[in-house]
Amino acid sequence: MHEQRAPTRNTLSALLGCPRCHTRLALTHDLQHTTHFTYFRCEFGHGRLTPFFQFLLEKNFVRPVTGAELAALKAKVKFVQCSNCGAPLDLAHDSACRYCGSPISILDPDAVAKTVAQLGQAQARLNTVDVDKLADALMTPAPADAMSPYRIGDLVMGGLAVVAALLVR
Ligand SMILES: [Zn+2]
Ligand SMILES: [Zn+2]
Repeated sequence: MHEQRAPTRNTLSALLGCPRCHTRLALTHDLQHTTHFTYFRCEFGHGRLTPFFQFLLEKNFVRPVTGAELAALKAKVKFVQCSNCGAPLDLAHDSACRYCGSPISILDPDAVAKTVAQLGQAQARLNTVDVDKLADALMTPAPADAMSPYRIGDLVMGGLAVVAALLVR
């Protein structure tokens, strides 16, 4: 059933054209410190487009889950969505996306806390990932799909929701 949710965002480059010269944007791999990320760029130098997840990677806002975090998540959630390409990940068997190779990643609370502190809104509560809250955010029952026990969630987007909830409290 989940096979049908094949990655759709990987076909992005086939659809994206430069708004100025209409050339197809080229998928580009880049490396900053130790972080690999990708973006799409016009080969004639008209600019680049960075998908949101890749932007978070580039800014070091996202990191792979630790073994302990993965174990805690597994106890509550079976499937999550690849934050890069949207493919389903089976937490019991996969440690990386089978389609695009991205590791199972979460929002890095330290990087987020640092940025928030720089914005003058330091929140000590951001020091640890609240796995319970993250799992709750991911496990919202899907009324439209009674066959699926849980809506497939995206760990990074789920993490963003948790952070946003902390900030407005
Ligand atoms: Zn161009
Ligand atoms: Zn993927």
